[in-house]
Amino acid sequence: MASVKSDIPNGIKSSDRSALIPFSSRLREGRALAQDVWSIFNAANLPSDCINLGQGYMNFAPPKWVTKAAEDALNTVSPNHYSHPKGRPRLRQAIKDQYGAQFNRELDIETEILITSGANEGQYSVFTAFLEAGDEVIMFEPFFDQYLPSVTFNGGKPVYVPLHPPPHSQAKPTSNDWKIDFDELRHAITPRTKMIIVNTPHNPVGKVFTRTELEKIAALAEEFNLLVMSDEVYDCLLYDNKEHVRIATLPGMWDRTVTVGSAGKSFAATGWRVGWLIGPPSIITPTLAASTRIVFCTNSPLQEAVAAGLELVNQHKFFETQVKEYQERRDVLLEAFDRIGLQYTHPEGSYFVLLDISDVVFPDDYPFPKSVQGRGRDFKACWFIAMEVGVSSIPVSEFYCEEHTSIGESYGRFAFCKDVDTLKAAGGRLQGLKKFMKAKP
Ligand code: GLN
Repeated sequence: MASVKSDIPNGIKSSDRSALIPFSSRLREGRALAQDVWSIFNAANLPSDCINLGQGYMNFAPPKWVTKAAEDALNTVSPNHYSHPKGRPRLRQAIKDQYGAQFNRELDIETEILITSGANEGQYSVFTAFLEAGDEVIMFEPFFDQYLPSVTFNGGKPVYVPLHPPPHSQAKPTSNDWKIDFDELRHAITPRTKMIIVNTPHNPVGKVFTRTELEKIAALAEEFNLLVMSDEVYDCLLYDNKEHVRIATLPGMWDRTVTVGSAGKSFAATGWRVGWLIGPPSIITPTLAASTRIVFCTNSPLQEAVAAGLELVNQHKFFETQVKEYQERRDVLLEAFDRIGLQYTHPEGSYFVLLDISDVVFPDDYPFPKSVQGRGRDFKACWFIAMEVGVSSIPVSEFYCEEHTSIGESYGRFAFCKDVDTLKAAGGRLQGLKKFMKAKP
């Protein structure tokens, strides 16, 4: 790792006491020091009446019967205290009951399920548990930005394999048109490759990986003995009758796969930070050892609430109703994009749409803040759209390595985890983009 120069060289007296202690060199890796995209496009930096379709969180509450369970937990003594590092037994049992059948197995709540402080911490703990310095981790681009520092903080080396977008000329592309080049994937594998990250449904493309794609990834994982981390936090959000295939259920894959889940996405509770990992004892046990030393345990009252939520989802037909609501939200936004005449990727899962913003023109001398200068064109375009039409989004080059920035620069990511009225209002405002579009030849 590169050595880090302190602003105050050792042994030299200085009256400047603002940076006495050099911080760790690991912060110089994995873009940890760059301002993250969520902070740049945070509502606090944008006009107060800007409609936020940027960071993916809902503008509606979790179901009443889930928040009621949270209140009940807060009013009971035991859930106000530490939980077992594995997670509360009631929640592990509820996960087993809800998801066991989807894994075609009787899950063991002692050794095959681990509750984590959000999906992020679960993934971080897997990296801590399994990576040696220099181990390579393959991730498909665009990738959820947090993977990168989570890998580098643990000594790993990210290796990028792009999902290839459909050509700009293609009419009405869907998320399924973003393709893996399997030769490219094979060539990315080296003797140091330890893991591959799969994310289905995908953030930010909305791609639902097909069984065939997952089978091909699985075959490579078998051939090269790779650990597969399957981030499936949007597993309850698939549209157009798409099938969610869990790579852990493909032949032989249970033994090398850890599947990541999230209460935040499932119950509109992204700030609760309750997630989980499902996998074989050979993966869960070392990950528990790491997680115990990182956070010790996840917050207890909200684990109880999520347990109650999962216990009641079938009775309330919650996931069935919720996915219909999301499909309606998606369609409101897509219809607005159709009216503008801009190309977008029709998402088959998750709650994001990639809008092709390469035809949105803006003046070079627009008063852009420092935070977006020197970044991809999409940073400026998304900033311009937020300021001029009043709808915020996330620039997609953030989800690419520097070398592949140009692929991401064409897109802005719009989140539709908002109520229909908000999406209609955003759709109305977005018509204002027509006057900033490149004239068609
Ligand atoms: N997962 C959410 C998104 O992609 C938020 C991520 C974050 O804020 N770190 O919008």
